[in-house]
Amino acid sequence: MDLERLKTLRKVLHESPEPSFNEFKTAEIILDFFNEVTKGSPLFKVYRPFLTSIVIDYHNGGDKPYKLFRADMDAIKVDESPTHEIVSKNPGVMHACGHDIHMTVLCGILAEVAEKLPEKNILFVFQPGEEGAGGARKMIESGVFDKYDIEAAHAIHVNDDFLVGEIASNDNVLFAIPREVDVVFEGKTAHAAFPERGHDALAAAAEFLTVIEHNIRKNINPTETFHAHFGKLVSGTARNVVSGYSKIEGTLRSFTSEMMSLGTKIVEETAKRCAENYGCTAKLTILGEYIEVRNTPELFKKLKTAAEKHKIRCIYKKGDLVGEDFGYFTKKWSGVMFWVGCRRNPDAEPVSLHSNLFFPDFGAVKVALKIMLEMLEN
Ligand SMILES: [Zn+2]
Ligand SMILES: [Zn+2]
Repeated sequence: MDLERLKTLRKVLHESPEPSFNEFKTAEIILDFFNEVTKGSPLFKVYRPFLTSIVIDYHNGGDKPYKLFRADMDAIKVDESPTHEIVSKNPGVMHACGHDIHMTVLCGILAEVAEKLPEKNILFVFQPGEEGAGGARKMIESGVFDKYDIEAAHAIHVNDDFLVGEIASNDNVLFAIPREVDVVFEGKTAHAAFPERGHDALAAAAEFLTVIEHNIRKNINPTETFHAHFGKLVSGTARNVVSGYSKIEGTLRSFTSEMMSLGTKIVEETAKRCAENYGCTAKLTILGEYIEVRNTPELFKKLKTAAEKHKIRCIYKKGDLVGEDFGYFTKKWSGVMFWVGCRRNPDAEPVSLHSNLFFPDFGAVKVALKIMLEMLEN
């Protein structure tokens, strides 16, 4: 394994971040790397199911089932801190979620397979549009995987909460269901001096925000997880006019679809009741959602064994309320996803994903590669 080559690859990928479904240059870099390491070997076939996505089929294992490895490709609209060792060359776009590391690891596996040519069947999946754009679902719906018998799907995510040399995962749900919603209140405008002629959509929205937390707590068993967060409210036109319109943007989170349905119902009913109190109407719209990432217990066990073998610390980590569209893979096939520690300094404060200061240490690539190659082997 040529780690220096992977280091250069990471640099190039990090310098060329592109937002969801615009990963054109990124795809080019990956395909160049693919051509360089596979040297035209007939054991590899490349598919481009849609837009920038890449699926590489390595077939050298007869009718054995396939192992699938997936990396996400997109970056986000954040201005990178100029203090980093490598800095984005696309102003306003940055690999602030570490997907450059994920792609580098997947390319590392590809290089190793191209060198050793194991008697196996492998799918390398480079997936665009993870950041809220639902690329995983689109890839699956494209039908590119339909002809394959896939026994296990694998993916990683870097995480600064853990040190280089640590990984973290579990045998259940690792990432939650995030559901993005808008709640719109429609009322009737009127002069502020004649409020009785209007229906105040701002008052309805304000009441909703005040009571929603209480309603959730009173209607959901406290041992269950359902979280609603509303981060944006737009309402009204002027200080001396009764607001005829309010829009609240929020996100709902849970670990199971049952809890998500129940929680959404509570949010919707609360909105309707608050609207009625002011003679308004309320409408909840679901803009999009991912499904949960559910790890297969058997594969988590393998992960632990792989970590032990390489003296990598494997931490049991309960699921977080963040979302990841790898859930579409784990819904269809057995799968496992794990966090890969990427903080070098144990005394430094962890930097959160999507921060313009997030810069995973390259050491994370080496750790993830060891584990993934072990998962591939056994
Ligand atoms: Zn992200
Ligand atoms: Zn991410």
